[in-house]
Amino acid sequence: MLRCQPFPPSRGGGSLTETLAFDDLVQALHQQLAALPDDQKGKNTQYAIKDAALGAFAVFFTQSPSFLAYQRTMQQAKGRSNAESLFGMGDIPCDNQIRTLLDPVAPAQLFPVFAEVYDALEEAGHLSSWRVFADQLLIALDGTEYFASKEIHCAGCSQRSYANGQVTYFHQAITPVIVAPGRHEVISLEPEFSTPPDGHAKQDCEQVAAKRWMARQAGRYRSVTIWGDDLYCKQPFCELLLDHGYNFILVCKPDSHTTLYEWVAT
Ligand SMILES: [Zn+2]
Repeated sequence: MLRCQPFPPSRGGGSLTETLAFDDLVQALHQQLAALPDDQKGKNTQYAIKDAALGAFAVFFTQSPSFLAYQRTMQQAKGRSNAESLFGMGDIPCDNQIRTLLDPVAPAQLFPVFAEVYDALEEAGHLSSWRVFADQLLIALDGTEYFASKEIHCAGCSQRSYANGQVTYFHQAITPVIVAPGRHEVISLEPEFSTPPDGHAKQDCEQVAAKRWMARQAGRYRSVTIWGDDLYCKQPFCELLLDHGYNFILVCKPDSHTTLYEWVAT
């Protein structure tokens, strides 16, 4: 589905269309970065933020922490780099520059990229091969911690206390993905971040964030079955899923659903 092409795209700068190529995805990211609010645009700040965001994307896309350092060396030696040809980067920022520039940018400002990619896949008919069981699109809901520390923390941290008095501070998010049997790839959908007002226990945070995601995305996707683990398998959560028009397949462990298992056994 994805193929690499030189940047910039050879065709006109329209929206994503039939053949969703890698450069189209990068182009969608470019367009969203150009749409960042004015208060974040300074003299050359906009270009710097763009390069920083593309740099961060490149590191995650290539799964190589040293990608940018290698590209800087290549640019100095050959006057051109893969960072430029593949990702359309101008200057290649260092890790600290990326952190400084991206810290003030709210992640939600990039969420439209997820929607654009999904819509492009749907319009081009790519999602039909992902649909199974009576035309259902399977969306796996799961939470992930993307930061944890016993020392470093901020006002937005969730925290977990232990009997020995230690506290772990963490940030987590729900990262829903479209999955299909037999496929190794997933299609990422926009995440939902957990914030402390959601609750205190990890599971409370994740559940509440998942509820928020479901409410926000209700009706967005056609014929969806939500997949989730045992922590979602609670009656109020199931009722909410049905209220929002989702089908669901949830893990139901015997030790957390004793009454249900007793009922099944009788
Ligand atoms: Zn924090």
